[in-house]
Amino acid sequence: MSLATPEQIKEVRRRRTITVMLVVGGILVLLPLSARFGDAGFIIAWVVFALVLTLFIPQYWRCPVCRSPFPRGSNGHRCDECGTEFGA
Ligand SMILES: [Zn+2]
Repeated sequence: MSLATPEQIKEVRRRRTITVMLVVGGILVLLPLSARFGDAGFIIAWVVFALVLTLFIPQYWRCPVCRSPFPRGSNGHRCDECGTEFGA
């Protein structure tokens, strides 16, 4: 087990913020708009949103040390792959 450098910890915090903001922001934008879409538009908007998340997050939400994806629910506190602690 090793400790991440301050830069790597900062990077993980930044990535977590962006990921959370993307998810929360997307939902906050889509929910009020949903009433205005027809049924098809509503479904398409959510499918596009889900697609962006499933494509983007696995690429982005990774350990900056070894580049392996963070395990689900780890919140980026620790990388199981290389054992780095981010303590963030
Ligand atoms: Zn790692």
